[in-house]
Order: sequence, then C-alpha cells, then structure tokens
Amino acid sequence: MRDQLYINGQWVGPDLGGRFETLDPATEEPLHSLPAATEEDIDHAVRAARQAFRNWGESRGAERAAWLDLLADGLEARHEELAVLEVRDNGKPLPEARWDVGDAIGCFRYYAGLARELDGRQNEPLALPDERFRCSLRYEPVGVAGQIIPWNYPLLMAAWKVAPALAAGATVVLKPSELTSLSALELAAAADRIGLPAGVLNVVTGLGGEAGSALAAHPGVDKLAFTGSVPTGSKIMSAAAADIKNISLELGGKSAFIVFEDADVEAAVEWVLFGIFWNQGQVCSATSRLLVHERLAPRLLERLVEETRKIRIGNGLEEGVLLGPLVSRGQYDKVLGFIAQGQASGARLLTGGRRPSGFERGYFVEPAIFDEPDVDSIVWREEIFGPVLCVKRFRSEEEAIRLANDSRFGLAAAVMSADPARAARVANRLRAGILWVNCSQPTFSEAPWGGMKQSGIGRELGRWGLDNYLEVKQVTEYISPEPWGWYLK
Ligand code: NAD
Repeated sequence: MRDQLYINGQWVGPDLGGRFETLDPATEEPLHSLPAATEEDIDHAVRAARQAFRNWGESRGAERAAWLDLLADGLEARHEELAVLEVRDNGKPLPEARWDVGDAIGCFRYYAGLARELDGRQNEPLALPDERFRCSLRYEPVGVAGQIIPWNYPLLMAAWKVAPALAAGATVVLKPSELTSLSALELAAAADRIGLPAGVLNVVTGLGGEAGSALAAHPGVDKLAFTGSVPTGSKIMSAAAADIKNISLELGGKSAFIVFEDADVEAAVEWVLFGIFWNQGQVCSATSRLLVHERLAPRLLERLVEETRKIRIGNGLEEGVLLGPLVSRGQYDKVLGFIAQGQASGARLLTGGRRPSGFERGYFVEPAIFDEPDVDSIVWREEIFGPVLCVKRFRSEEEAIRLANDSRFGLAAAVMSADPARAARVANRLRAGILWVNCSQPTFSEAPWGGMKQSGIGRELGRWGLDNYLEVKQVTEYISPEPWGWYLK
C-alpha cells in the first residue's frame, strides 16, 4: 500500500502536513496511515498539472488513447488484488468490488475509444446560412481539472473522473475521500509504472476541509468535477464562483421505485432489494423509496421482508456475504440515527435496523424496511445512504408520479409494470436524469449519468462525460471575394 502523495510523477511528502489513519470497517482495526495534503501540496500538484498540460493538451487523441489502454491493462493485471484492497478499505462484498474494478477498467477502455474518435471530429464543418462564411469546430481540453470524489465506489469514481479528463487532453489533480484513498493511490501507481508523463495525473490524499477546499479554491484549476453530498457540493460551487470555474456536480439522491399491480412479484423482489441493499445502500442512485400499488403491497411486502431477513451479513471477504459493514463509524452512527428518527416519527419498522447479533466489532447494520413513513418525515425525504428502504402505497398512476416527484432530488427513478406503454408514460413524467424500467441500478459507461434538481449539474459518462472536459471553439472564416461593405461601398 502506498503512503505518499503522487505529484509530478513522483511519490512525495508529506513535508508539513500530518497523517491520518484509515480503518478496516469490518474489524475497526487500523488499516493504513496516509498523508494529509496541505495547501502547499495542492499548489505543488496544480502547478505540476499546469506544466504538464502544455504538452498533454496539444497531444493527439490517439496518443492519449494508447496511454488510457495501458492504464486499463495495468489495472487488469491486478484485478483481484485491487478488489480485495477495495473490500478492506470500504467494506463492500468481494463480488461487488470485482465488478467495480472491472467497470473501472471498462471505463478507461471506453474513453480510450472516445479519445481516438476525437481526432476525427476536429475541424468538423458547421453549416451556416450565409455562403460568404465557412465555419468549423474544434474541441479543445479545458485545462487543469480538480477532481474530488466520495468513498462509496473508490476506484470506480476515480475512473469516471480521470478517464474522460485524460481522454479530452486535460490534466488532473484528484483528491479521493479520506475514508477510502488506497485504490486511487494504486491508480497513480499504475500511471507511474507505465511512465505516464509527469504531472498529467496527480493524486493527493487529504481531508475535505483542508486538501479538498484548497483544491476547489485554487486559481490554477480550470475545471472542478465533484461527486459527493449536497452540502459539500454547495461549498464547491461557491468556491468555483470566485473565479468562474467550469463545474460539474454529481450529488445525492432519494430515488423512487414505482411498482404497479401487474408487476411480477418475484422480479420486483429481486430488483427492489438489489436497488436498495447493494453496496450496503451507500449508493447515490439507490432506489430508497418504494411506491407500490395498494393491491400488490401485502404480497410484495411479505416477500421483501422474508428475503431481506435471509441476506447474509459479514466481512466482505467471506464467501456468500451480501451485505458488509458501513464505511465508517460516522456513517454507522448517522444511519442508526435516521432509523431512530424514523421510529420516533411513527413509521413501522418491518425488519432490521439494528446491529446484527453476534457482531462485536465492525460497522454492521441489519437491512431495514420502514412501512408508511409520513411524507414529511426525515426518513422519507432525506438521503440516508445506508440499507434502509421506505415503502408507501399508492392507488393511481397519477398519485405514484406525484409522490415520486415530490423530492428535492432528481437523480434516478425506476418503474416496474407488465404494460410497456404505462412504463414508458410514467418514465417520461418522472423528473430524474436516470430512469430504469423493470430493473434498478444497471449502469453503462456509454449512457449519461447525472441528476436534475439538487442531484447535481451536468452529466458524466458517455460522450457527455468527455464534453465535461472539452471547450468547443468555432473558427469562422470569411471566404467571399466581395468586400464586407460596412463602409467600403
Ligand atoms: P462528502 O460530500 O462528505 O465528501 C465527498 C468528497 O468531498 C470527499 O473527498 C471529501 O473529502 C471532500 N470534501 C469534504 N468537504 C469538502 C470541502 N469543504 N471542500 C472540498 N472538498 C470537500 O460526501 P461523501 O460522504 O464522501 O459521499 C456521499 C455522498 O456522495 C452522498 O450524498 C452520495 O449521494 C453522493 N454520491 C453521488 C454520486 C453521483 O454520481 N451522483 C455518486 C456517489 C456518491
């Protein structure tokens, strides 16, 4: 495990800053000690990225694609090792960590493809309604990108940020979450091993209020890309306002899953449980509000409770475990606090919601289901970011849509029905950036990712992810032999 900052192609420091400890959330044992980057370290990293941008920003997409493929190869060669590291750092079950690493590799390869395509898009002609002019478009990298990411998918969130930025020709200073920095440092190690030019990718570990805010405020950063909570997103936006930085925000969610009376009960059980309990419910797009038609509710709830009780809880490295510990003591206290507030507000706890018996250590919480919380209650309105499902019944399509849209968030939503016309109609009326029909959560590098309302600004992934790091430039040429004629008649 690495224990230094990766700046300008070198492992350095910390010179002045202290260190912070990370724990294994399944055992609460210390896992590693990491450098807490200072304002000076951030300045050093941003200057390195700016220097590197001179060449990287001028390079051809095909050249950058070759580097991205090499990075993907480097991660692929250590797939299992990285998955195990992710489990120890974050707590998630090993099969899910393997998916994450596989998706991160896929993301680098996907953006390698888009970097190659970008060369073919340069100087693209744009038709104008005036024949005296010829216009073409250039796509140029935004400059230095400051990227700040959360702890729920440590390596995958790093890939979603770093891959499109490098593909576009931007250079990067990445700050991972202080709770889960280990795999981001391994990404830096992969870059180092392949000899990626110094300063193109810098990885700085540190605390949000210090390293994170110094990065957000740094005048040498052209673009801020942030994934995390709404309150931090709001601070990042304020910091960006000072010198009008380009910004993209991927924030929280409280996504609804509408299940109609004609849905297949067993399919609904499968997708509803996956939609809220995978990754211990620490998923921005988790479908944490279930809206079920009143006629299907008794049967579906009975089956959901039955299957939820069977979910095997334990250390993510153990075979057959489906639910690991929450990431930290802070997250554990926060989730149990929400559950206590839900009970106090009168919602019926159908199952779970406490520390499972037999677990002396580790941040484990039994998956919980609340029945009929009040629409104004905290558990129905706020993002819990843990294994807690809230269920309400509805009578009509109109009521389901109204309840689903009644949220300050708008990241994702899901709808399940045997009637494709109804599913499509409802999907069109839900105010969210990601809509799943007859499923919940599947995510592809090709498709845009992001939310409406307080769930964020902009989209990641797909070609929209690349656009986050590109400036489009028009080159308009006067090609007529005639004088323009403003004063020369
Ligand atoms: P967080 O906002 O606490 O922290 C996110 C990152 O911001 C961390 O790296 C942290 O160190 C840094 N940070 C904290 N304070 C900062 C400051 N003042 N200035 C600059 N940086 C600062 O969020 P979290 O608890 O790590 O992650 C959970 C949140 O992330 C949830 O709300 C979840 O919905 C959201 N999330 C969203 C998506 C998405 O794609 N929309 C994906 C994953 C997580």
